[in-house]
Amino acid sequence: MNAIAYDTITRDENQTEEYVSSAPTRAEAEEAVRTLIRWAGDDPRREGLLDTPKRVTKAFQEWFSGYDEDPEAILARTFEEVEGYDDIVLMKDIRLESYCEHHMAPIIGKAHIAYIPDGKVVGISKLARLIDAYAKRLQIQEKLTAQIADTLESVLAPRGVAVMIEAEHQCMSTRGVHKHGVDTVTTRFTGVFQEDAKMEDRFLRLIRS
Ligand SMILES: [Zn+2]
Repeated sequence: MNAIAYDTITRDENQTEEYVSSAPTRAEAEEAVRTLIRWAGDDPRREGLLDTPKRVTKAFQEWFSGYDEDPEAILARTFEEVEGYDDIVLMKDIRLESYCEHHMAPIIGKAHIAYIPDGKVVGISKLARLIDAYAKRLQIQEKLTAQIADTLESVLAPRGVAVMIEAEHQCMSTRGVHKHGVDTVTTRFTGVFQEDAKMEDRFLRLIRS
């Protein structure tokens, strides 16, 4: 049973690699946009839409720029001269822009990241770049939250990591159930934030203050 499951996973991964490595040309991507315009009910040959496929593919490069980033490399440069600082390092209310992998619709919100260093700290702006490296991909919020926390955990080996994301999913607000102003909240705590309820509490109080 296990052997069969493993075999299936291996084969799927190989296929994914092959499929992604044969990336479409820009012309193919633009043609796909023309197809979607027609699917929406408009004529891609009319003047106002002539350059739209070019603009959409360019926008895609920005929206999905995370695929070109190496999240671990972003955190590679650490600083060890911290004068014994061993308390919370927190960045809160960081703007988050991501895209749901089910509808390719925007997920807009904010992220809060904290860690307690164990001798190693990283430049504050790197935390924001780490978020973008994972957010600017097709995502689900749960996975995004875990990826950010796990990368911090594995590269910095801190005493604990806390990540919270609060975001509105436009696939829920502009279609489907049409619920506006509903934030989905996800969290991931490791180390002392997971083991010590007081630390979790401090994190939550700091991001609300
Ligand atoms: Zn969705």
